Amino acid sequence: MSFKDLGLSPAILDALDAAGYTEPTPIQAGAIPVALSGRDVLGIAQTGTGKTASFTLPLIEKLMNGRAKARMPRSLIITPTRELAAQVAENFEKYAANTKLTMALLIGGVAFGPQEQVLNRGADVLVATPGRLLDQFERGKILLADVQVMVVDEADRMLDMGFIPDIERIFSLVPPRRQTLFFSATMPKEIQRLVERFLNNPERVEVSRPAMAATTVNQLLIRVKDKTPKAKRDALRKAMDRDGVKNGIIFCNRKRDVDVVARALQKHGYSAAPIHGDLDQSTRTATLEKFKTGEVRFLVASDVAARGLDIPAVSHVFNYDMPHHADDYVHRIGRTGRAGLQGEAITLAGPEDGKSLAAVEALIGTKIELLDAKPGDAKPKAADTPAAEPEATTEDNAADETAQPDESTTSDSPRPEGGARRSRRGGRSKSRSRGKSEGDEKRRDEREEISPSSGGGGKILGFGDDVPAFFRNS
Ligand code: ADP
Ligand code: MG
Repeated sequence: MSFKDLGLSPAILDALDAAGYTEPTPIQAGAIPVALSGRDVLGIAQTGTGKTASFTLPLIEKLMNGRAKARMPRSLIITPTRELAAQVAENFEKYAANTKLTMALLIGGVAFGPQEQVLNRGADVLVATPGRLLDQFERGKILLADVQVMVVDEADRMLDMGFIPDIERIFSLVPPRRQTLFFSATMPKEIQRLVERFLNNPERVEVSRPAMAATTVNQLLIRVKDKTPKAKRDALRKAMDRDGVKNGIIFCNRKRDVDVVARALQKHGYSAAPIHGDLDQSTRTATLEKFKTGEVRFLVASDVAARGLDIPAVSHVFNYDMPHHADDYVHRIGRTGRAGLQGEAITLAGPEDGKSLAAVEALIGTKIELLDAKPGDAKPKAADTPAAEPEATTEDNAADETAQPDESTTSDSPRPEGGARRSRRGGRSKSRSRGKSEGDEKRRDEREEISPSSGGGGKILGFGDDVPAFFRNS
């Protein structure tokens, strides 16, 4: 199967060639012809499966021979975070290099002036986070009456972040006759409801999640007996000092821990930098760039900040915190061991993490091997019995604890194969859903990263053999 078979124009095929894409990924092969036919698409696929091109390419094809009017974008791509929006914009520029299409990017932390100029001249594509888009709409800077294609990327992420009311609002503002391309990694019932309400007889295109990285990722566990942050940070540094650690991402569950851990590492002479939603856009972009070039060796990140980021393969993933949701574990460790390279994922587990650890081990179907305690190593706690409940002392945790089991993730959408799944979306804590009074940009931008969990999968299914190795472990 080649991109040519999908019905794309030479201008796009040349751009894909230049990008080094030789064949479409499964979601691209499934979604692009449907989108080109004009039908709505419900695309279900995990991070790293190539969703961006699945909606961007047909969008370019469809818009290629027309022109936008002032302040009236012809298409809209909504993503939950600034980073994802910036990445989509980057991809768009790559794929549309041989066309005259224009794009504006509407996200927090990016100056509106230049973007407004593009909009005023007429942007074919508007890439935006929901809050920013609504702000500018309310100020009369944008008219949505000419939107022919609306794309929603990472819908379940939007749910996690409390954006559903915004999305509903945006749907109500675009013309009813538009085409909708809607992507999500999972289909909790809130998302299912959105789809039923706003999509027009969509074709469902679903690909299985990239297989577990277990074959190429060496997974290790360090038991941290002592509950103090200091003990954890000591254990982390020991893990980071292991042989073979070239670079890595250190995951924390909370934003403030991201900062604390990064600062502590810097103090100990490590090349480390934090990345989370409270940092301004230029800092985040600069940090990511430094990490890509190797100037920064360790990225300390929250799940949301790291989610969907196109980070090159790393030798190591460290879980400073045991993730609250087992899926996040799989996503995190998928950052290493890519493309057949051996990677290592080291997880710190405290006495309070018994339950989360058990959930992770149930999901991956194996016990995580205990890292040997060499003299001086953080002492693994032998025969540790899982402690009762993870504590819910912080707001972050509290939000999770209120989540109701969501049956729809298993019952609404029959799956071709039954992998390990869990259900957690559904009841959102009130603090996460958006209050009417929260109008200002600042707070909206903050909402771009408030979830301690990261969305993601509900199943682990194998990928077919036709999938390039690159996509299996991404
Ligand atoms: P998703 O949105 O599903 O997480 P992306 O669209 O960000 O995935 O794609 C993940 C990575 O794969 C990106 O680096 C992208 O450039 C690359 N990619 C996408 N499609 C292809 C393809 N057909 N061939 C090679 N690389 C691809
Ligand atoms: Mg994506």
